[in-house]
Amino acid sequence: MRHIKNMRKIISLCVIYCTVFLCLATSIVYADSVIILDPGHTKIRYGTKSCSGGHEFQYNNEMTDFIEEYLKSNNIQVLKTRSVNQEISLKGRTENSSGKALFISIHHDSAQEKYISYENGNPCSNYASGYSIFVSRKNPFFEDSLQYAKILGRNLRRLGLTPTLHHAEKIHGENRELIDKELGIYRFDDLFVLRTAKCPAVLFESGVIINPYDDQLVKTHEYKNKVAESMLEMVKTAIVKKNDNK
Ligand SMILES: [Zn+2]
Repeated sequence: MRHIKNMRKIISLCVIYCTVFLCLATSIVYADSVIILDPGHTKIRYGTKSCSGGHEFQYNNEMTDFIEEYLKSNNIQVLKTRSVNQEISLKGRTENSSGKALFISIHHDSAQEKYISYENGNPCSNYASGYSIFVSRKNPFFEDSLQYAKILGRNLRRLGLTPTLHHAEKIHGENRELIDKELGIYRFDDLFVLRTAKCPAVLFESGVIINPYDDQLVKTHEYKNKVAESMLEMVKTAIVKKNDNK
């Protein structure tokens, strides 16, 4: 009887030690590299207006904060380029990106003026709907950036999100090269933060907020959770690669 009790004690101690060890191992692996989250625009230069009259700046803050919490709860070390109401230059956003695993800029999308009608002074349109991802060939880590963008796109698609293809239209202001139509990945070489980041970088447009459907969708917990979940594999891959190259 005593023998069985002792065995039980030993087994439960083993379980406790193994759990502690695994938790520590996970945090050591992921705490070693930093992910930069960049909420687009500022309170003064707030980006696009939504169909319900909100400012893109606010949408970007909310989505970024959600992703930040999600990543932190997965033992990932996150830095943001600015605090909630901080004014910052485009140059300032990428200043501290050297040596980081990945720079992710978060935005919400619009469309060209000719597709917009105004309701109560707010821009509205059903012309485009969905997310998009941008990468730049001028980023010093373009190949890595594209690899990570594909992981993000695949996860977004897996969770039922659809990309918008309107940035590929052959008109002034768009005309972006679609690198991957299925995953919604565009090439935008001169996008400032992508070009000047000193680490792999992707820019994510979460939804087209002049579209009344997207405008409501992107505010939901379920949607934000799908976006954050989609980012996790990309972020982990970038961190593992960063640590391998040390
Ligand atoms: Zn924007």
